[in-house]
Amino acid sequence: MNWRAPLLALALIWPATLLPARAGDVATVAAATPAAAAGVPGADSSPAVPAAAVPAAVGPAIATDARLAGDEERTRLVMDLSRPVPFGAFALADPYRVVVDIPDVVFTVPPSAGQQGRGLVSAFRFGLFAPGKARLVIDVTDPVKIDKVFVIDPIDGQPARLVVDLVKTDRVSFMKSVAAPVQRAQAAPVLPAPPVTNNDGRPVIVLDPGHGGIDAGAVNASAGIYEKDVVLSIATLLRKKLDATGRYRVVMTRDGDTFVPLGDRVKVARDQQARLFISLHADSLAARSGQVRGATVYTLSDRASDAEAQRLADAENRADMIAGLDLSDEPTDVAGILLDLAQRETKNFSALFARTLVGKIDDVARMHKSPLKSAGFKVLKAPDVPSVLFELGYLSSEKDVELMTSDAWKEKVTDAMVTAINAYFASQGGSSAPVAMP
Ligand SMILES: [Zn+2]
Repeated sequence: MNWRAPLLALALIWPATLLPARAGDVATVAAATPAAAAGVPGADSSPAVPAAAVPAAVGPAIATDARLAGDEERTRLVMDLSRPVPFGAFALADPYRVVVDIPDVVFTVPPSAGQQGRGLVSAFRFGLFAPGKARLVIDVTDPVKIDKVFVIDPIDGQPARLVVDLVKTDRVSFMKSVAAPVQRAQAAPVLPAPPVTNNDGRPVIVLDPGHGGIDAGAVNASAGIYEKDVVLSIATLLRKKLDATGRYRVVMTRDGDTFVPLGDRVKVARDQQARLFISLHADSLAARSGQVRGATVYTLSDRASDAEAQRLADAENRADMIAGLDLSDEPTDVAGILLDLAQRETKNFSALFARTLVGKIDDVARMHKSPLKSAGFKVLKAPDVPSVLFELGYLSSEKDVELMTSDAWKEKVTDAMVTAINAYFASQGGSSAPVAMP
C-alpha cells in the first residue's frame, strides 16, 4: 500500500481541540464544521485555507487519493481532499459496514482503488449517493468501533485529509452502537420524476441504467471500464432513439452518475404507470471465465432458471447493500408469494417482450448460449409493469468490453432494441394495456 508514514505521524500529533468529538460508544460521529450543520455543499467558509491549496474553493471538493494503513487491531483510512468537508459517520450490521457521508465530492480516485483491503477493511468504495451527497462505504471483516473520524486542514503543500480510524471490537458492542438512536442511512430520494401526465395516450417506457454513483457495478479494472457507465451510455442513446419515434414517453431512473436504490427504480415504473420497464446491466465472471460472452435477457421468477441466473440475481440484488443502505428495514421478500391474476398477466407480457428482444438482438449481436433466463431480481418486482433485465454482455470478456464500448455496437444494439419495442407494442394492438393493479 502507498500509505506514507509521515502522514500518520501528522495526524497523531494533531491538536485534540481541532478534532471533532470522539465517537464514544455511539456509532455516529457528528459533523464538525458549520457547513455541516447547514448541510450546504460548497458553503464551507470556516477553515482558513491557503488559496494555493484549494483548487476548488467553491463547488464540490475533489478527492484525489485514498489509502489504508494499520493492521487487524486498528485500521486507518485516509482520503486526500482539495479542502476540508463536513462529515457524518455510522455503522451498519449484516454485513458489517462503516458509512461516512460527506457533501458533494468529485472523485478523481479510480473506483477500483478500494478493491484491495488491509487490516480490518476488506474493501471500500466511494461516490455519489444522492444528488449533492457523496458517501464512503467501508466493508469491514469484523465488528469495529469507529474510534475517530476527523478532517485535517491542508498544510505544507499536503492536501486536506479525511481520516477514519477503526478499532476491533466484539459483536455485542458493535450491535449496541448500531442500535443506538443515531442518524441512520437514508435512502436516496426518488428522482424527481415528472408528475404523471400520461394523458397523451403514448405508452410510458422506463429505462433503468443499473448501479450508479457509489455503486460502480461490475468492473473491468484493466480496461478501466465500469458497468454503471456502459449501461448509462446505452440507455441515453436508446432514449434518444425512442424519443425520435414520437411513439413513447420515455423516463429514466437516472440520467447521471448517481445511486438509485432498487426499490426506488421499481417505484418510478409504478408511479409512471409504465407499460414497459427495461433494466440495463453488464455481467462479469471470475478470472479465467473470459471466454464466456454475449447478451442475456432475464425476467422475474421466484426460482432461478439455473445456478448462473441465481448468482447474477444475488449480485445485482446487492446494490443497496453496496451503497450502504440499511437492509433491516426492507419488507420481506415477495418471492414465493402466489402471483395473482394481474401479476400473471404482467409475467406473460414480460416473457413476450423478453422473447421479442432476444429475437431482434440475435440479428445484430452475439447472444449468450442460453439467452433467456429468469431469477428473483428485486428490480423486476413491479407487479403491474412488464419488466426485463437486459445483460448486455460480460465485462470479464475483453471482446465484449471492446464491443460494448464501441459506437458501432451501441448503434446496432439500440436500433435492435427500438425494433423489438415497436414489435412488442404492435403485437398488443397499439394501446391495449396490461391489466392495471387497483
Ligand atoms: Zn448490474
